[in-house]
Amino acid sequence: MKYDFHTIVIGAGSAGLSAASILANLGAKVALIEKNKMGGDCLNTGCVPSKSLLHQAEKQGLSSANVGFAWEEAVGNSFNEIRRIPEKNFSRIIKHIHETIEEIAPHDSEKRFEDMGVTVLKGSAKLLDEHRVQISLNDRTGKKQEANNIQVISGKNIVLATGSKPRVPKLDGLENFPYLTNENLFSLKKLPRRFIIWGGGPISMEIGQAFGKLGSEVVIISRGQRLFKKDEPEVHPAMKEVLEQEGINFYFGFEPTKIEAREGQEGHFIFKIKNRKTGEEERILGDQFLIALGRVSATDELGLEKAGVEVDERGYIKANEHLQTSKKNIYACGDVLGDYQFTHMAGYEAEIVARNILNPIKTKADYSKIVWTTYTKPQVAHSGYTEASAKEEGKFGKVLMKTFEDMDRNIIEGDTKGFVKLILDSKDRVIGGTVVANEAGEMIGMVSLAISKNMKISAFQGLIYSYPTKSEVFKSLAVKNLQGSAQPWQRNLLKKWLSRNIN
Ligand SMILES: Cc1cc2nc3c(=O)[nH]c(=O)nc-3n(C[C@H](O)[C@H](O)[C@H](O)COP(=O)(O)OP(=O)(O)OC[C@H]3O[C@@H](n4cnc5c(N)ncnc54)[C@H](O)[C@@H]3O)c2cc1C
Repeated sequence: MKYDFHTIVIGAGSAGLSAASILANLGAKVALIEKNKMGGDCLNTGCVPSKSLLHQAEKQGLSSANVGFAWEEAVGNSFNEIRRIPEKNFSRIIKHIHETIEEIAPHDSEKRFEDMGVTVLKGSAKLLDEHRVQISLNDRTGKKQEANNIQVISGKNIVLATGSKPRVPKLDGLENFPYLTNENLFSLKKLPRRFIIWGGGPISMEIGQAFGKLGSEVVIISRGQRLFKKDEPEVHPAMKEVLEQEGINFYFGFEPTKIEAREGQEGHFIFKIKNRKTGEEERILGDQFLIALGRVSATDELGLEKAGVEVDERGYIKANEHLQTSKKNIYACGDVLGDYQFTHMAGYEAEIVARNILNPIKTKADYSKIVWTTYTKPQVAHSGYTEASAKEEGKFGKVLMKTFEDMDRNIIEGDTKGFVKLILDSKDRVIGGTVVANEAGEMIGMVSLAISKNMKISAFQGLIYSYPTKSEVFKSLAVKNLQGSAQPWQRNLLKKWLSRNIN
């Protein structure tokens, strides 16, 4: 059978763009369909604007001595008088965020992909069967067109890369409030006075810290008791202390029950929350609130049932280890798979998909080398196994842990917060690690390299490090391991050797 395209990619976010570019660069005839902005979440409403906001908050926000506020009663009849950045500076920050997006946008643009030989179609795609896709084309302004502008194309293979959407649960009164999600947060016109964030995940940590630095009173409501719950348990107390010192207020174990307008004050609302265990109720006054409760799948309009593509109970696409769906010629990558919702994982999965489409010998996706970073200050970065996941899979050997308190570079900079935790297997190979440090996102690369090359911890000892650097912590950990594992006779021998050679 003859098809219009070798591969049709649906969704031009991190996953779809990577898949399309690899396939096109290797000579495949590719169609890429996008209903909204090229670049998807990461460029327009995710990684880029959030990291730009964090950077600006650090640069232009209040010094750490001034952030935070005296927390009396969140409920009170008015907001506290605390220091804030001037309103015009906030507008400039928002403008700067959009300029940053625009500067990066050409990399993901239609033109760049057309130049690569990809046919880019702007519109909403729907599967008609396992080879045909129907597109309701957008009009020139990018808006969805009614009825008649429909195109149907066929492909030998199809890649589903339609991403995810913010999860917005039901809440009494919510329909009357213009709440924020990551989709409209970066277009805020005014700096909130009291910013209530519903959800205690990584997005809420980053956004909460940034707005706290700009001078908003930040209140975070978390259903659970632990922040950074996908990271090692030691991260929670360390980061809670940092964030609380900066004035962020947490309600752990609470759930909202209602939101209602505050009479006589336009834009102000009262948020009612309830302790999940004790039933105790609180009322919090706010003027903006963000829903950051995780993501849901973006598959509802895709016509998956017509093509026979199965989804799991959450609506995310089911795929095997080669990232093939229940129809072997239809692949999926990125957030739409549900589990590892990061840009770099979308890119990794897209590479596997492209390889498997072109190659009869299939490659498996391997998630044991997963890496992620939360860009708070200090950053929290993780690679490979956690202690718990290593134990669960029978890979655990030991833990090595060290703070930065006696590291020269950290003392010089007065920045001794944080720690490194490494997980080794029974042969002393590095299989996981967590770094909490201002540069953790950069430092975790050392751990990832060690994991991917099956390196033993001793490899960190053999390296020469520039002095003074924070990465010397890896050498300290290797030495610590050596000291801990040496037999008494080895220690005695070393002592004798040292005394003979030094005296
Ligand atoms: C606030 C925030 C901060 C983040 N920060 C980071 C970070 O620092 N680092 C990191 O690694 N990750 C981060 N992420 C996660 C990251 O943004 C996502 O993992 C990544 O964007 C997923 O890419 P994707 O291609 O799978 O999906 P998306 O980027 O969502 O792309 C899917 C695309 O498909 C299109 N689409 C959907 N349905 C259809 C259809 N029927 N027809 C045509 N087009 C369709 C959508 O319009 C969209 O453009 C962040 C996310 C958020 C929300």
